[in-house]
Amino acid sequence: MLLCRTAASEQRARGLAYQVLRSLHRPYWIEERRIEVRFSAGVALWPAHGSDVEELLKNAGFARNMARGQPTEQQRVRVYEPELRRQVLDRRRTTEELSRALESGELFLEYQPIVDLDTGRVEAVEALVRWQHPAKGTLMPDSFVPVAESSELILRIGEWILEEACRDAKRWDRQGVSGVAVCVNVSAAQFESPGFVRKVRHLLQEADIDPSLLEIELTESTVIQDVTESVRRLQELRDLGVRSSIDDFGTGYSSLSYMVQLPIDTLKIDRSFVAQLEHSDQARVVVSTIIGMANSLKLRLVAEGVENDRQRSIMRSESCRLAQGFYFSTPLKSNSLIELLRQGRVFRPPDVSSV
Ligand code: C2E
Ligand code: MG
Ligand code: MG
Repeated sequence: MLLCRTAASEQRARGLAYQVLRSLHRPYWIEERRIEVRFSAGVALWPAHGSDVEELLKNAGFARNMARGQPTEQQRVRVYEPELRRQVLDRRRTTEELSRALESGELFLEYQPIVDLDTGRVEAVEALVRWQHPAKGTLMPDSFVPVAESSELILRIGEWILEEACRDAKRWDRQGVSGVAVCVNVSAAQFESPGFVRKVRHLLQEADIDPSLLEIELTESTVIQDVTESVRRLQELRDLGVRSSIDDFGTGYSSLSYMVQLPIDTLKIDRSFVAQLEHSDQARVVVSTIIGMANSLKLRLVAEGVENDRQRSIMRSESCRLAQGFYFSTPLKSNSLIELLRQGRVFRPPDVSSV
């Protein structure tokens, strides 16, 4: 706890909190192990947020609770506001429910095909988690993954997702559709957790699948948190034979110099660019630039969120070979996916007569 008499305004209190976080946030070494500790801060101001120490501490606690585990430094400093109290309590309830849901098997995965635009065949699938809530029906990840990410629960859920995806990959293999890789979204806390790569190796052995059938999807904000450490982990994954990709590319803060350093295999162009392609020359320039960069770095490219034939055709003419989106298929349960994979081709490329 820090009591500051001089931080009279919200702005000054924030500034002070950033200073403290920056001085604490550095890697610590315990023997050979590098430990990264990330701090967060909650701020309550007298007299606006409480008239006595007890109330101020409680409200600063609510604010810190919402700040914990956020991806950027700015989001890891939170100033109290009355709405936060309800949010914290809601989140606590959802976390408890989610923890129970994981135990009782209410979470399941759907898979969305990633299609080769030249052949129309499924090259890989992306695993997307859903929650079959007993009262609210099927819940999408945006409504519960951020909640899980605010606590250790994301580690348990993330591990289950990886395990389940590897098990399904093995099942497809046994059912005669081999060679389809599964891409799994991995949260920052999971990627940075000690022993992550070891766990991946163990899961691959347990499921008995070839490491080249697994690809890890990370966001830009995850990998730029600590570039040196990300390079090390990504290289370890690569040494294992597991591929990695940057998801939602173009929406983060990546600087080119970081991207060049990272041993990644794939860039997934965010669907917001694909959505604007038909109407905005600017979006087309951004997409062309991303594609040019990926080609010179020898990275694979996936266009996300392709919803119509025009977008497919533009991406193909921009020499993007892989795409994913409702135009080809929505995310499917494992059993329906098998049927689709058996058919082989998801769509017939109109500009290629025979493949
Ligand atoms: P993402 O990884 O970028 O996943 C793609 C999202 O775009 C999915 O939404 C998918 O259903 C949606 N999508 C696919 N094609 C189209 C299209 O043509 N148009 C539109 N409008 N949307 C399309 P979903 O399943 O709701 O997932 C949202 C986000 O939640 C994911 O974004 C990912 O960041 C996160 N997420 C999903 N599953 C997992 C998971 O297993 N672990 C973690 N850590 N995060 C996950
Ligand atoms: Mg993804
Ligand atoms: Mg994405």
